[in-house]
Amino acid sequence: MGEGILTGDPAGIAPGFPRVEGALHCRTLALEGLAERFGTPLYVYDAQGIEARVRHFRETFSGVEFLLAYSVKANGNLAVLNRIGAAGAGADIVSGGELHRALAAGIPGDRIVFAGVGKTEFEMEAALRAGVHAFHVESDGELARLEAVATRLGTPAPVAIRVNPDVESPTPHEYTRTGHAASKFGVPVSEAKELYRQADAASHLRVRGIGAHIGSQIVDVDPYTDALAVLLAMADELAADGVELEYLDLGGGFGVGYDGEPGLPLEELAAAVVPELSRRDLRLVLEPGRSVVGHAGVLLTRVHYVKRSGGKTFVITDGGMTELLRPSHYGGWHRIEPVQSPPGEGREVVPVDVVGPVCETGDFLARGRPLPLPRPGELLAVGTAGAYGFAMASNYNSRLRPAEVLVEDGRALLVRRRETLDELVRGEEIPPRTD
Ligand SMILES: *Cc1c(COP(=O)(O)O)cnc(C)c1O
Repeated sequence: MGEGILTGDPAGIAPGFPRVEGALHCRTLALEGLAERFGTPLYVYDAQGIEARVRHFRETFSGVEFLLAYSVKANGNLAVLNRIGAAGAGADIVSGGELHRALAAGIPGDRIVFAGVGKTEFEMEAALRAGVHAFHVESDGELARLEAVATRLGTPAPVAIRVNPDVESPTPHEYTRTGHAASKFGVPVSEAKELYRQADAASHLRVRGIGAHIGSQIVDVDPYTDALAVLLAMADELAADGVELEYLDLGGGFGVGYDGEPGLPLEELAAAVVPELSRRDLRLVLEPGRSVVGHAGVLLTRVHYVKRSGGKTFVITDGGMTELLRPSHYGGWHRIEPVQSPPGEGREVVPVDVVGPVCETGDFLARGRPLPLPRPGELLAVGTAGAYGFAMASNYNSRLRPAEVLVEDGRALLVRRRETLDELVRGEEIPPRTD
């Protein structure tokens, strides 16, 4: 990793973010101009890139009836969700809050699948009223609670069991692995059949499908074909018992190339999946998050100071773990480039730690990264930050969460303004002292 930043990839920092006459752009708009207009730290998203990814998924899997249920947790900005929905996609949600977002963004309820191990009654009720595509049930306790809620409302609940296929999914970090037996997600294959039997017999549950989600940032097709085999075997067994499924959901987790390398080959996946599903007359659901929005976002951050200490060079920026948590949380690696001038041109390249202002040693965007030595005041772009960027931003250290801008048809649209100090303390109260 890391060659791109030294050579100053003329293609830019990611697709949709080219370098034009030395300056990084989002499509036709200079990033420096956006930073001056909206301030930093700033997230910038490329609408065209997002819509192109949705279209690409839909074309690649056009051999079967297909629902792209975009994983809202990757980037839940309403404008982003709205454009994804307008491109024909639905949503994969993991909370009542995400349901609220998806509906507010105009995504129809019947294109929403509801996953997650800890659904509350309140969330189930809201999802039932919204007419979701299905609940992806992760335990027997959840199935019983869902049946009770559906019975109380008199509204049958569409159900799929999220099976844990117990496959090895070689993700870059253990925190992003979910498809092995010892994870909290999904129902073991040995127990899934019994849950289907219960659901099939219940008056207020409707069996619809089967699903799995094996992890995140996976670049090989093999773990998916392993999971597919497990799900198909279960679907075939159920069919033999008279329980007909309508769809199969292979989850998300398709990896992207953070340093310009290819991500998961979707065509190869389609070649393995499509014939098996069409033969059985099963619809396909996929739940990509990162691979829809990852490349379509950058984080812009300005250099405050450059400081040498203990033999190291620290580049202190106005963005850090509160804006982009991935590097400190699970060792996520992002391209970082100066926005102006071809990187490296006439400048000394030195290994630097790019760190934020937060009072934590774990607050960094990159460590030991060879960069043309940045200057105070200079603007840096952090690439492939469209997924799990703003979505994981926090107010730690009472920092204001950054603004988000959507670039569309040559215009920069502010789709979330920077937080204010009033918003920072909203909902807090100082009770009167009783002495
Ligand atoms: C997080 C998640 C996804 C999306 O993962 P990506 O790596 O962003 O594609 C899909 N489905 C479920 C159930 C998830 O929890």
